[in-house]
Amino acid sequence: MRLALRALALVVLGAVVFVFAPTPTDAAPPETYTVQAGDTLYAIALRYHTTVAEIKKLNGLGTSDTILVGQKLLIPTANAAAPLPAATSYVVQPDDTLYRIALRYGTTIRALEQLNDLPNPNLISAGQALAIPTSATVAKPGLILDPPTARQGGTLLIRVARPDLASVAGMFNGEKIAFIRAAGYWYALVGISRCAKIGSAPLSITTTDATGKSSTDAISVSIAATAFPVDAITLPPSKVTILQDQALIQREAAQLAAIVAQATPTRLWSGAFQQPLSGRITENFGTRRSYNGGPVGACGHEGTDFGMAAGSPIYAPARGRVVFAGLTQVRGNMTVLDHGLGVFSAYYHQLEINVQVGQMVEPGTLIGKVGTTGLSTGNHLHWSMWVNGEYVDPMEWTRRIVP
Ligand SMILES: [Zn+2]
Repeated sequence: MRLALRALALVVLGAVVFVFAPTPTDAAPPETYTVQAGDTLYAIALRYHTTVAEIKKLNGLGTSDTILVGQKLLIPTANAAAPLPAATSYVVQPDDTLYRIALRYGTTIRALEQLNDLPNPNLISAGQALAIPTSATVAKPGLILDPPTARQGGTLLIRVARPDLASVAGMFNGEKIAFIRAAGYWYALVGISRCAKIGSAPLSITTTDATGKSSTDAISVSIAATAFPVDAITLPPSKVTILQDQALIQREAAQLAAIVAQATPTRLWSGAFQQPLSGRITENFGTRRSYNGGPVGACGHEGTDFGMAAGSPIYAPARGRVVFAGLTQVRGNMTVLDHGLGVFSAYYHQLEINVQVGQMVEPGTLIGKVGTTGLSTGNHLHWSMWVNGEYVDPMEWTRRIVP
């Protein structure tokens, strides 16, 4: 037992060191994965806590994204192989697969196999209890916070693994949060402000079972700081005039806040978001700015900027409905997409807009062209996202699947 604990401690230490190691794939021998129908390199990378670039490098895939069903891929396992502590248990539902359960809990098939001593991952049956290893914290039995510590500008996924419940309601930091029923659990998405107070924030969850009996759990969620960079911006005098017009800035922010407050109760998107274009990031989400030598703002950049030539196409990152398309003074030509459940995305400073309000867009639909309209110093796309009215880091949504 003591030996096992020491081994675990070493693995945990290894995982910590791994974060800082420049060549993570050297840390452990790779394992082999056989490509299944419906797989993408991206989904495989997510599942094994690695990146598409790492998998491509290890398998010599070059620039190709094509993989074939049955193809064997080497997977860097430095991260995924660490045995995680059991966090909760799950009862297998009809039509479940280990793959779906792993995705839902943000873990891997391998981790489920190891923890449950499964001789054959294809043989799980309805009613079987599985221990779920998860990187998430189980705050109470059946309640999972993913990630376990929320961070400024991040999206917190709260899951209640109780399919038997008739309803689930919640409050986070004094704001109501909506829970959605999914196969085998309920979930809610919470956007954490990029300038949220560090420390703990109250979360209460009220569950009601089929007989009408309710109970409320109160827990606290830790919010960690994100180390946002600071950037000095120089603007020409004509644009400084716009910047100094606080009434205008506040009016436009209020107009936008009203748009993203109108949550559609149905989910329109599925899977991870795609980048709206494949340009170089010129300013990250949350970067705190000083304009023309002025003071550094307390609350940083409200999106991710991509520097691109004028006229470069901008594509919808996920399914959604156009809820705003028009010219604004600060954000220039702006499009706002509603993806449902309080998730919105927006595109600023466009040269031209190629969609209309009310139109449905699919991932990859051309929505506009890169420009420099509004308060902008050069051609670029500014991409913002909101969850429940809070700006969140859009790039997190390209790396993460909300199950
Ligand atoms: Zn920007």
